Order: sequence, then structure tokens, then C-alpha cells
Amino acid sequence: MNVLVSACLLGVACRYDGQSRPCPMLQSLPPDIHLIPVCPEILGGLPTPRISAERVNNTVRTKDGRDVTAAYRRGAEEVLRLARIFNCRAAILKERSPSCGNGQIYDGTFSHTLTSGTGITSELLMQNGITVFGETQLADFAAEIRKGARADGPNDDAVLY
Ligand code: SF4
Repeated sequence: MNVLVSACLLGVACRYDGQSRPCPMLQSLPPDIHLIPVCPEILGGLPTPRISAERVNNTVRTKDGRDVTAAYRRGAEEVLRLARIFNCRAAILKERSPSCGNGQIYDGTFSHTLTSGTGITSELLMQNGITVFGETQLADFAAEIRKGARADGPNDDAVLY
């Protein structure tokens, strides 16, 4: 099964600050889960490092006030394209990011304040039937996979953890 994953969670230094956010739990996924690393901001044409940006409504702006919505949308479309090529039905994406976040994102004031909301890429993926999990939701991810395996038939009822 192919699953999209935020590249920064695998240790790729693609964040705005040139850092990564490795998630060690990803290393313990079973071998039949094939992770497809993506960074929508890079795929959208943005450099690393880059000025941090936050989403407000349908717009993404950098800390210095530039509208970078088009790059964020381009990156989201590229990620969706890869999801289709690799037939991904799920994604594990970095929480709180203006691209990859799901449920909570920073509120646009650049004061580390969280608000309800979803990143541009996560939103597009979900609109296209792809289930998005954050890196702290790997147990939920495993439960969904087990449910899917049961639906496919008794022989595929693999225990993932
Ligand atoms: Fe990580 Fe997503 Fe930000 Fe890229 S866009 S650095 S994958 S959180």
C-alpha cells in the first residue's frame, strides 16, 4: 500500500528554516506500507530556506507580507498528482503546517497561536477522497489500515503493530 508522507517527517531538511522534523515512529511501519515522500512547498517552487508563511482563510502570506498562495496551490496540485500516480488512499502529513496541517494550523499572526484549520495540501487531498493523518495519529492510521484489510478479505487481515 502506498501512503504519502511529509518529507520533513522522514528527516528531509525541507522546512522553511532548513530543518527537518523526523518522526521515528514512521520507521516502525510494516514493510508493506510504502511511503511516498512529498514536500508541497518545494513542489510548488519555493526555495529552502524560505520565509515562514501562515494560512488565513484561502490565502497564504509570508511573515513579510507576500502572498504565496499560488505556490502553495501549485504544490498541492503536484502532491495530488503523485497521489493519483501511486494510488494513495492515505497520507501522513506534518501537523500545524500551512500546507500539511490538518485540524489545527497557525492563525496568521506569526505569534505561534493555533486555530482550527487545515493546510492547503491536506485540504485538497481530503477533497479528493484521501484520508490525512498527522504524525501523532499513527495509531488511528493503523486502525484504518486494519479496517481496510478486513474489507478486502479475511486473508489480508494483517495486524500492523
Ligand atoms: Fe514538511 Fe509539508 Fe512543510 Fe514540506 S510543506 S516542510 S513536507 S510540513
